[in-house]
Formats: sequence, structure tokens, C-alpha cells
Amino acid sequence: MISSPARPRRVLILGGTADANRLARAVANDPRIDAILSYAGHTENPTPPPISWRLGGFGGIDGLVNYLRGENIVRVVDATHPFAAQMSAHAVAACAVAAVPLLALERPPWQRAPGDHWIEVDDLAAAAEALGTAPRRVFLGIGRLQLKTFAAHPQHSYLVRLVDRPRVPLPLPDAEVIVARGPFKVADDRAMLANYRAEIVVAKNAGGDSASAKIEAARDLALPVVMVRRPFIPARETVETPAEVMRWLGHDKTPAERGV
Ligand code: NAP
Repeated sequence: MISSPARPRRVLILGGTADANRLARAVANDPRIDAILSYAGHTENPTPPPISWRLGGFGGIDGLVNYLRGENIVRVVDATHPFAAQMSAHAVAACAVAAVPLLALERPPWQRAPGDHWIEVDDLAAAAEALGTAPRRVFLGIGRLQLKTFAAHPQHSYLVRLVDRPRVPLPLPDAEVIVARGPFKVADDRAMLANYRAEIVVAKNAGGDSASAKIEAARDLALPVVMVRRPFIPARETVETPAEVMRWLGHDKTPAERGV
């Protein structure tokens, strides 16, 4: 708990996830926290948060150190996607240099459940290899930036779900695009996979509930899932929920939140 500082605490939230948006909504209600949400700028229309926000990279570790010092940031919350390994590694390094406490908000990875048929691999190149040589109908729920990995496997037909409509043709000769933003529902994803007659699903192990529908839908339809394990990120203090971040930031509950 913090003792009513004269000025609100300047906090940087590294975003790009539904949890970062949830956290932004929570800090917006605490006048003792002055938080800014940072987006990489890859999504065309990021959800406008109820706090101030910025777009674009910092310019590596040195750029982030300069930003932290220039903006008088006293705490950093890394609420990026678990596969945003470079940004997370930069945050660990920059916060150490600038002596700013860092907390990661990260959902635990999904665990295999009865009925799942997962093929676990270390990266997307291995995922593409795991599809095999015979043509298959593949659902790709991996985002836009790494689709080129699958260009070397043009024998497959791909159903690609993206947040934005692509402005240039995809690097895949046989691909259908669905433009949609999570969270997704299991029934909808089941219908999507069945309508496409998907034979296999490729997913990154993001964890959380925003993108888990496709995994449950694959289980229901007895489809195999090529599951990409999370990349390495240097050790840092980590919590799983926005409520735990709020406690770390010194937020004590308002009477309404305590049910008083
Ligand atoms: P990345 O490879 O770890 O980061 C590449 C560079 O992008 C970073 O070095 C940094 O540039 C900039 N960057 C990344 N996140 C940023 C942020 N929140 N604010 C300011 N700059 C940021 O990241 P990525 O995998 O390309 O992901 C980019 C963004 O998309 C992340 O914010 C992530 O949360 C979100 N996202 C990623 C995935 C995924 O599967 N990777 C899925 C959903 C959402 P500088 O070095 O110049 O600072």
C-alpha cells in the first residue's frame, strides 16, 4: 500500500493484450496512479484505453532507459503477449539499468486436457514442418507477422484469422482470411473450423481465455493442434491477474470494491 503521495505515480504499461486493457481500465479508476499504455503500433486500430497511451518502439534497451528517465516512470508493468520476447527482454534490461521495479502480467500457458491431441514444437518454423508434406487444410491463429514462415509450405490450404484486413496479398498461395478480434467463443470457433473442413490447427501457447476457444473447438472436433511453446524470457517477477498488479502498484480497494 502506498501512503497518499503528493503526485500520482508514473507507471508504464507495456501492452498489446486483453489483460493490458483490463489493467488500464483498473488504473484509470485510481487517481494515485498516472499510467501510460504503450502499444507497438502493429495493429491498425488499437482499442483506445481510458488512460493516456503511446504508439511505437522505444529504440531498443537504450531508448527505453531514456524514456523511463525522461518520463519519470517509477514502475513498469510488462503486460505484453508471452511471445513478445524481445520487448520483454528489453524491459528486464532497461529496468535494471534505470533501477525501476518491473512486474510482468502473464497468464499461465494452456495445459493439455483429456481429448487433446497436441504436437508441441519450439517455434513456428518447426510448426510449419510438423504439418507434413501431404496437403492439409490448416487453421492459422498466429497473427500476421510470421505468416511468411508458412510460405515454404505452399502445398497446404490455410484459413488465417487476423485482427486487420491485410493490405498486401498474403505470402500463401491458397489462403482464406477471416478478420476478427478476440475474445472468441468456442461454439463460433467450432463452426468456423467445421465450415472450413480444417484438419489441423496451429496455435501459439498464449494462455488466458481470449484465444483459448480454438483449442477447445479443436478438442471437440478431435483435430490435432500444433502448439508452439513459449519463447525464453529472462527471469522477472510475474503475476497472473490485473488485480495482483493493482496490489503491487499500491492500490487498496475503494469502499465500493470492498462492498461497503
Ligand atoms: P517483440 O518482437 O517482442 O518486439 C519487437 C519490438 O517492437 C520491440 O523491440 C519494441 O521496439 C517494439 N514493441 C513491442 N511491444 C511494444 C510495446 N508494447 N510498446 C512499444 N514498443 C513495443 O514483439 P512482437 O511479438 O512483435 O509483438 C508486438 C506487440 O504485439 C506486443 O506489444 C505484443 O504484446 C503484441 N502481440 C504480440 C503477439 C505475438 O504473438 N507476438 C500476439 C498478440 C499481441 P523497440 O526495440 O524499438 O523498443
